[in-house]
Amino acid sequence: MKVDVLIVGAGGAGLYAALSAVKENKDLNIAVLTKVYPTRSHTGAAQGGINAALANVDPTDNEELHTFDTIKGSDYLADQEAVKYMCFEAPKIIRAMEHMGVPFSRLGNGKIAQRPFGGASRDRTCYSADKMGHVMLHTLFEQCIREGVKFLNEWFMLNIVHDGKRAIGVTAINIATGEVKLIKTKSIILATGGHSRIYWGYTSNALGCTGDGTAAALRAGLPVKDMEFLQFHPTGLRKSAILVTEAARGEGGHLINNKGERFMKRYAPEKMELGPRDLVSRSIMQEIREGRGFKDDEGREYVHLDLTHLGAEKIKERLPQIRELAIDFEGIDPIKEPIPIKPTAHYAMGGIHTNIKCETPIEGVYAAGEAQCVSVHGANRLGGNSLLDIVVFGNVAGKEAVRYAEGTDFAQGGEGKLEDDVKFITELMNRESKETLGDMRNELGEIMFKHFGVFKNESEMQEGYEKLKNLIDRAHKHLGVEDKSKVFNLDLQSTLEFFNLLEIADVLAYASLQRKESRGSFYRDDYPKRNDEEFLYHSMITKNADGSFNYEKGEVDISLYEPAERKY
Ligand SMILES: Cc1cc2nc3c(=O)[nH]c(=O)nc-3n(C[C@H](O)[C@H](O)[C@H](O)COP(=O)(O)OP(=O)(O)OC[C@H]3O[C@@H](n4cnc5c(N)ncnc54)[C@H](O)[C@@H]3O)c2cc1C
Repeated sequence: MKVDVLIVGAGGAGLYAALSAVKENKDLNIAVLTKVYPTRSHTGAAQGGINAALANVDPTDNEELHTFDTIKGSDYLADQEAVKYMCFEAPKIIRAMEHMGVPFSRLGNGKIAQRPFGGASRDRTCYSADKMGHVMLHTLFEQCIREGVKFLNEWFMLNIVHDGKRAIGVTAINIATGEVKLIKTKSIILATGGHSRIYWGYTSNALGCTGDGTAAALRAGLPVKDMEFLQFHPTGLRKSAILVTEAARGEGGHLINNKGERFMKRYAPEKMELGPRDLVSRSIMQEIREGRGFKDDEGREYVHLDLTHLGAEKIKERLPQIRELAIDFEGIDPIKEPIPIKPTAHYAMGGIHTNIKCETPIEGVYAAGEAQCVSVHGANRLGGNSLLDIVVFGNVAGKEAVRYAEGTDFAQGGEGKLEDDVKFITELMNRESKETLGDMRNELGEIMFKHFGVFKNESEMQEGYEKLKNLIDRAHKHLGVEDKSKVFNLDLQSTLEFFNLLEIADVLAYASLQRKESRGSFYRDDYPKRNDEEFLYHSMITKNADGSFNYEKGEVDISLYEPAERKY
């Protein structure tokens, strides 16, 4: 199989990249390969909105302020020119999507409505009730169909193939038939999404957010960046960890402890519930640690998110999905009662290293979306900035990948990699499984949440890393595939995803142990302060053939704003 440009992933990043690519050059053969049907990508779960300084609500807003808020929110680890590029592109890309038909919520005067969000100094988040990702994903998919983008739906990418200098293609399984193929391409865009499923059972992410592209990048010798930074969103539902959007607080929701206090006054006296996510998540955990949380019969600890004072009308209009989720998964109607919540593993700031053009060090290999780390979010992403990042850099990646494909021919080789992958899968299918995938996944989630959670320290992390190494070792020796069929073998797929999760957890744990400071989402009790002198750098990690890691320090672009202490 041969295509000129192959986009792996059909979330917001992949679909926007595909659209930009076909618009750039209709004569090229452009295809999107995705393990889930496009409209099932995790982007469809995004709730609260997307940031752009349209100044529709607050006329004093502008792109410069958006840039500064993002850099401050990142705890000064974001690359500042990249942030600036994203924030200045934002109004243009929102209008482009508006023209495609994305149904934004409106103000009385017909302009796109904007709501307040965490860490933002103005009301800047454009929204569509609480279903922003859903409407974006569907509109982008429709546009791709209209433009004739080809889709390889329910294909699972295994590995990136290159010759050390440039891209050759990818290996992938057709899930419907079980066939493994080498797909040759001139350029590849990895838009495979995040990896918060390493916190299995404690995450807001869809089942498919298993970091397959990032793990494949590691195996292909590409650098991953800032992997220690994983964001906990303050408000996941108590039992399921399903997300309750920040818009619930943006619309005026309060966080309440068991004393009935709005405890955020202790931690962010000005911004209160609308402090950045890292700060609010830590504040909730601190309340729980100090005995001011609630505990249910099954021992789950949590605090309350109270929306009752917003009134039925506002909740039904602005937060309909949140109400449904609270009713379905907690048996609680937020119109009448507060919602039990606790922090949930939510977003990967780290990912495949690229420059601002979405290029990786291998020619023809690009990355975009949550899988990518440019970096525009640094140590902590602001709510509403990811939907923005994925379309802005999806757009860049699409154009750059076309430009590269136009000037090159298909590289030779790759058949050896195909043979290796077929062999690996055959062995896995023939192996008698001595462990259960479900149990192992839960074990991974427990290790990560306990040892690499909201609060970390050296001894907890060391202990966690030992447990993780043991789990990895057992999985490689004992985990096989019970379902032996070729057709729609989801057992095989889940097992491959689990191996990717282990690879990601390994590198995240390793990266965490190297950073002896606290910054943004990354908080250590034993080093509670940010330390710019020693740690104002991007961690850049590549994997050696023997499985060990190479650790390097990447420069952070601070050309626009001097790092300062964050106060909210
Ligand atoms: C519950 C929730 C709510 C959120 N709300 C907001 C919000 O309001 N505002 C905001 O800015 N951000 C929000 N985010 C974050 C944001 O939605 C995500 O970061 C973003 O949508 C990721 O987009 P993506 O295109 O990079 O990846 P995804 O949408 O996750 O898509 C990944 C794609 O890659 C494909 N894929 C993965 N692995 C493989 C493989 N091995 N082979 C083939 N295909 C593969 C999948 O099939 C899928 O199509 C939210 C996230 C969650 C989880």
